Amino acid sequence: PAGQARDALTVLIAAPRGFCAGVDRAIEIVERAIAKYGAPVYVRHEIVHNRFVVDDLKAKGAIFVEELDEVPDDMPVVFSAHGVPKSVPEEAQRRELTYVDATCPLVSKVHRQAERQVEAGRHIVFIGHKGHPEVIGTFGQVPEGQMTLVETVEDVADLDFTADTPLAFLTQTTLSVDDTYKIVAALKDRFPQIVGPKAEDICYATSNRQMAVKLIAPGSDLVLVIGAPNSSNSLRLVEVAERCGTSARLIQRAMDIDPAWLEGVGTVGITAGASAPETLVREVVDRLGEWRDVEEHTLVTAEEKMVFKLPRQLTA
Ligand code: SF4
Repeated sequence: PAGQARDALTVLIAAPRGFCAGVDRAIEIVERAIAKYGAPVYVRHEIVHNRFVVDDLKAKGAIFVEELDEVPDDMPVVFSAHGVPKSVPEEAQRRELTYVDATCPLVSKVHRQAERQVEAGRHIVFIGHKGHPEVIGTFGQVPEGQMTLVETVEDVADLDFTADTPLAFLTQTTLSVDDTYKIVAALKDRFPQIVGPKAEDICYATSNRQMAVKLIAPGSDLVLVIGAPNSSNSLRLVEVAERCGTSARLIQRAMDIDPAWLEGVGTVGITAGASAPETLVREVVDRLGEWRDVEEHTLVTAEEKMVFKLPRQLTA
């Protein structure tokens, strides 16, 4: 009620958070494709896993589909940041479609490593989450049967390769840094001959966001992670906060916050997955400010300067 003092709420905002260079680039690719080819431009799969971003691009003239056969002939199509199996650009070429590949360069790097390892005669153990589009795309870089998925340390125990099978491991870019470390250790323990990248393929944005949550979570009573339920890196941020002993909630928008969550809460931590725009962070802070006197602090664990080049066909 007016005139009555409201409780204070400390808000700790993680940095880095939100958009990564791969997401920035993918969104710009769709916008530039619409400018160059005219609306509508088709996009195969959600360009990045965020409804707000997808709706914004829909309003600008993008049409989202799941498979290439939903794209009419003579219409331009963009492939999402998560990457696609080789069969997708091959089919687009066969149909003589104009296509732009918005696969994040850090995902493409894993694709090339997969090809190289198979050429070198090694079977690949891929650490990732079953069914995620990035995993489907990376599996689709090599002939069937050349790659095996593991999701957990237990899965490693079930592998039936021998100590002289030539093996390599690769990983999805948006995994838990801590879990992946354990899975890689289990692989090296069982198969000392296994070769892999110097660091796992978890990208800079994923590891930076997890590190930043580790700084805000211990001092928070509740952590709000802004992101989509199908966003792998956002789900990992919820886990990281929970493992710090703090309860955490994944929310898509400010309206998802139940005021009851704030009962007895003095400090709220906020972060956002790599596909969540900064406007949603502001929206959440503003919403909290409707209920409490917010005192906001940003805790910085890393500076990010990564920028990826756009495909030449959109800059010429
Ligand atoms: Fe690229 Fe990492 Fe962003 Fe995924 S999360 S788009 S791999 S930078």
